[in-house]
Amino acid sequence: MPEKSLSAPRGTADLFPPESARWSELEARIHRLAARFGYGEIRTPMFESTDLFVRGVGELSDIVEKEMYTFDDRGGRSLTLRPEWTAPVVRAVLERGLLAQAPLRLYYIGPIFRYERPQKGRYRQSHQFGVECFGFPGPEADLEVISMAWELVADYRMTDAVLHVNSIGDSACRPMYRNALLAHFAPHLPSMSEDARRRVERNPLRLLDSKDPADLPYVESAPTFEEFLCAACREHFEALKSYLVLAGIPFVVNPRIVRGLDYYGRTVFEITSSALGAHSSVCGGGRYDDLVRSLGGTDIPAVGFALGLERFVMMLRAHEGGAEPPRSGVQAIALGAQARAVLVPVVAELRRKLDAPTYMDYQDRKLLAHLKIADRNRARYALIVGSEELTAGELVLRDLEKRSDRRLPLAAGGVLAELLVEATA
Ligand code: ATP
Ligand code: MG
Repeated sequence: MPEKSLSAPRGTADLFPPESARWSELEARIHRLAARFGYGEIRTPMFESTDLFVRGVGELSDIVEKEMYTFDDRGGRSLTLRPEWTAPVVRAVLERGLLAQAPLRLYYIGPIFRYERPQKGRYRQSHQFGVECFGFPGPEADLEVISMAWELVADYRMTDAVLHVNSIGDSACRPMYRNALLAHFAPHLPSMSEDARRRVERNPLRLLDSKDPADLPYVESAPTFEEFLCAACREHFEALKSYLVLAGIPFVVNPRIVRGLDYYGRTVFEITSSALGAHSSVCGGGRYDDLVRSLGGTDIPAVGFALGLERFVMMLRAHEGGAEPPRSGVQAIALGAQARAVLVPVVAELRRKLDAPTYMDYQDRKLLAHLKIADRNRARYALIVGSEELTAGELVLRDLEKRSDRRLPLAAGGVLAELLVEATA
């Protein structure tokens, strides 16, 4: 029987050059951004005890209801591949006792796993950059984390990104809003989605972010939280909005932003982009003052976000509109064995000294074939040595962007490398 050919699991992707370079560049920017805001990196295991997510994310969340990769290990423990980072981060800092000296500012970057129906911008393994800021109850910390997410978007000049903010109150005012929502949805439930009917009793707020067309008319006519916010929540939200204005961060107040995870309170926000299609966000976050306590810690307020890197890269691509990446580095081209023997040590030296790639192909080829390879590598310069150059004691340095040639003396390896570093600077 012929063997079935092997393929990557559904909803996962391999990453190759040059796309992988875009990812490294993005990750490098994220590390610099987090450092500028005074956040330190945390890395947690790729799997955790299943219980952590059931308690930390909430039984009624999409994640716990239907998206977790859960398995029993050989010791019979139920483990789950990390579907989100916040619960593991809280688990880790509690375990280490790091919140004893809160405030604490952490960021993470790495894979998450969710059993979803794969489609554009939705995968079974994807990657998130996110932050958690522990210890500040006030709106300044909300502004801080929102600024960080916005900064990344602004850094890439993504003008179609929109920041949506909302307040979903606290334990003082949410019950009133809950009741108002229950009363609003009750008569329509028979014609609403099954998810809506199942969730409405436990958490009617969840219905507000339903994407089911059956629910939309009733969601649109639902009362907003605005009129139910208690004085303290209203003050918090107003202060955040004025901070955002002062920081020059554009936003819209969107009463339908509620976030899918159960632990949020007061501030919630999302960043959307037209590049992602309707209702699709690249970043979601907010405040979760009760999470630390519910996972066994003391009362420590927290605010954070998670930003999807696959979706962010989709936005980047839409924004670039297929422009070619800039040329960089040198393609060393030897025509013939003798020239090759001269160039190999020069290439070794260039790779030590040049802060850009040096490429060399070791086959015997015509100049044209070598230049094609240089183009494929997006090299900025070609360094050409043939028999004519060997006799003259020279080489040709061709600027592949400006299409101009320079002749340089074919000095000994080290000296030549110095000359080239200078010429290509
Ligand atoms: P959605 O409503 O699109 O399912 P979500 O509310 O489940 O999003 P969060 O849990 O808030 O998403 O995760 C934050 C971000 O992580 C999202 O805005 C998105 O960019 C990214 N993300 C979440 N799930 C996936 C996935 N399956 N594939 C790719 N990116 C994802
Ligand atoms: Mg989801």
